[in-house]
Parts: sequence; C-alpha cells; structure tokens
Amino acid sequence: MLVDLEDRMLWKETKSGEFSVKSLYGALETRNATLFSWNIMWNLFVSSKGGFFTWEASWGKVLTLDQLKRRGWIVANRCFLCPVEEESIDHFLIHCSKAKVLWELIFALFGVTWVLPSSVKETLLGWNGSFVGKKHQKVWKVAPLCLFWTIWKERNRITFENEEFLVQKLKISFICNYWSWAKLFIDVGLLSLINHFDWLGSK
Ligand SMILES: [Zn+2]
Repeated sequence: MLVDLEDRMLWKETKSGEFSVKSLYGALETRNATLFSWNIMWNLFVSSKGGFFTWEASWGKVLTLDQLKRRGWIVANRCFLCPVEEESIDHFLIHCSKAKVLWELIFALFGVTWVLPSSVKETLLGWNGSFVGKKHQKVWKVAPLCLFWTIWKERNRITFENEEFLVQKLKISFICNYWSWAKLFIDVGLLSLINHFDWLGSK
C-alpha cells in the first residue's frame, strides 16, 4: 500500500500516488479492516507518515529482517536495537527491551499500569483510553503511534547511517515527537515542553 523510499512516501492506493482520506477508507473496506475500531482511525492522520507506518506495521507489511528472509534474502537476523533477539515488527515495537523503555515512559506519564499484548495489532485494538479521563484521551491514543514511529526512525538511523544506539537519544526523540504530535489535540493552546508534561499529570 505504501512505499517508503528513504524520506519519500508513495501511496499506492491512488494512481497519482497522492494520499487521500477517501482512498484510505476504500483500502480499509477492501482489506476487511473491520477488526479495527473506527475511533482509532483518526489517529492515522496525526502524522501522515506515522499513521501510514502504523497501518503497515499492524498488517505485518513493514520490511523488517524476518520479512526479508521470508522473501528469500540471505540476511543475519538480529534486532538492531537490543541486539539479542531476531528482528520482527512485534519484537522491536513491543517486546524489545529498548522499546520497553519507551512503553514504561508512557505508562509513567499517564500513571497507569498496563500489560502489553503480543502484537502491534492487538496493542492498538486494546488501547482503550477510558480510564485516563476525557481530557487526556486523545493524547493517550496518540502515544503508541508516536512510539512506533520514533522506534522505526531510530532503527533506520542505526541501520542505514551506521549510528550507535543510545537509549537516552531514543527517549529524547520520543519526548520531542510526542510533544509535537500531542499538542495538536490539546485545547488549552500551545504549551511549552515542561508545561505539556505538567498538563499530562494534571487531573
Ligand atoms: Zn530487540
């Protein structure tokens, strides 16, 4: 559905390659996407790239090393982040010890305890924000999408630019991304980074 050529995204559901909401809904219907609750669909538009990536990840379409192997490529499969386990989409977005650092950060920000399910799709389906209160519900829903996108960007930075993995850098990227994504959904006007996280902790 989507081709990621470095930083250029091509949407394959329209002839022109340009994204439209109508074409996304069409694609969802034809792929029997009713498993997804419609109330998370708006999240897909938070950041078009982040939204697309989440969509692809939840359907196992992202070209991780396990997918490349399945297609006949001869590659040593090691997660770029840990690097202990084999890389798969569910590993590096959910189960990897490095990803867990970000999940724990989210749970700490919202003051919740949460048991993550085994897959990206189940995580999104079960990401119910009723207990965080109406005020924080939208930014709660944005959180996993932002986490997925941040890890994916970090993974590619390490893979293609031969950069070293630093957990502190991952956390800072997430905080900055999350601040810029979440502020689109906060009604109290522009908040500084510090005020933003104060607001998250407020009742
Ligand atoms: Zn890992």
